[in-house]
Amino acid sequence: MTAAISAARAGAKVTLLEQNKQVGKKLLVTGNGRCNLTNRDQALSHYRGSSPAFIKSALKAFGLWETLEFFQGLGIVTRDRNGYLYPYSDQASAVADALRMEAEHQKVKLALNTRVQKIRKEKGRFFAETFGWTYEGDALILAAGSCAAAQTGSDGSGYVFAETMGHSLIKPLPALVQLRSKDPIFPKLKGLRTEAKVTLFSEKEPLAEDTGEVQFTEYGLSGIPVFQVSRYGVKALEQGKNLRAVLDLLPHMKKEELPSFWEDRIHAGAYKSAGQLLVGLFPKNMADCLLKRAEIPSNKTAGDLTREERKALLSACTSFEVKLSASNGFERAQVCCGGVDTREVNGKTMESMLVPKLYFAGELLDVDGACGGYNLQWAWTSGYLAGFYSAVDK
Ligand SMILES: Cc1cc2nc3c(=O)[nH]c(=O)nc-3n(C[C@H](O)[C@H](O)[C@H](O)COP(=O)(O)OP(=O)(O)OC[C@H]3O[C@@H](n4cnc5c(N)ncnc54)[C@H](O)[C@@H]3O)c2cc1C
Repeated sequence: MTAAISAARAGAKVTLLEQNKQVGKKLLVTGNGRCNLTNRDQALSHYRGSSPAFIKSALKAFGLWETLEFFQGLGIVTRDRNGYLYPYSDQASAVADALRMEAEHQKVKLALNTRVQKIRKEKGRFFAETFGWTYEGDALILAAGSCAAAQTGSDGSGYVFAETMGHSLIKPLPALVQLRSKDPIFPKLKGLRTEAKVTLFSEKEPLAEDTGEVQFTEYGLSGIPVFQVSRYGVKALEQGKNLRAVLDLLPHMKKEELPSFWEDRIHAGAYKSAGQLLVGLFPKNMADCLLKRAEIPSNKTAGDLTREERKALLSACTSFEVKLSASNGFERAQVCCGGVDTREVNGKTMESMLVPKLYFAGELLDVDGACGGYNLQWAWTSGYLAGFYSAVDK
């Protein structure tokens, strides 16, 4: 939609081909229905992909401020939550509506319920074949999304179109996704939420870490910090590596103060059982699990714990290890990592380096962002540039 608007504003006659009966269906589910549309912190480290230089170049051309100005022009002012920006009304539908209204205002023809089957280029013209009609144009923008959350329309067909045009793909994999484990603790801990630092390890190598509220579910781990590190874990699993998460369940305690905090706690609660010692730090079912990991009977008196047992219990709290076996897949992923290889795309214009006047935008490209509004920022950035340059002579 952003690409269609910027192309139309730059003077092109634009048709947007959408297989759903409405445009912007995925937008409606973003940010839990509130749409976290961008973020004030635009450090490049929040964006991932094979070519950081490509991402940097695009964000320099159309970044946060241009995005805010663009949305302000559509009537969307933002609400700031610690740098995470939402539409003031807190409704994702407002963003989808504002984009649709502007597209209509710019006379973009919205061809709904129109699934593109095939694309081709002949004698300098592009053709997009749908059931019953072939659309024709001087330029073509592929903005068909990834294959994450296919129920919203992005079923991976964009990848096929890109390959038809001779482009290479970095294998798309689920990212921002829950991680599964076969560890029998999970059914027991399901529903538990706790603050933790999550560090993923592939074999012995640390891959990524993040801190926040972790959710234990029937099948494994969820929550924002798990989403943030998931893409690295999914890649390691894809390579057949052993993947584990190490959870520090006391993430906000200073490491140097932890041993004395622990000894003081045990000393003051020497009359309690080992299980009671953990009351106030962790929910009961978590505490039971920690004692089991440390191989300490829950009724053992805290004052009788040996030095090794005290150390083992602290270590269970700060290095709670879980073996991971899979992700929840494309269906439950918020985005995909991988996509059209950006080494074959111009980072300023989003034009293909292989096929003149073919452009790419959004998640279809090998760019994925962390949770926090970065995936939509990438969609606005790449969409705006692709639209503009498809319509003007460079
Ligand atoms: C649950 C959820 C929550 C999210 N929350 C956030 C958030 O708060 N902040 C954030 O930054 N990101 C969020 N994201 C990610 C963000 O929504 C996507 O990265 C973004 O929508 C990608 O935009 P896109 O235009 O590339 O693809 P899409 O939004 O997927 O749009 C692609 C469109 O192309 C259409 N299409 C595909 N193939 C065809 C075809 N063959 N013919 C015709 N039409 C076709 C699809 O129907 C779809 O409408 C979330 C994602 C999910 C699933």
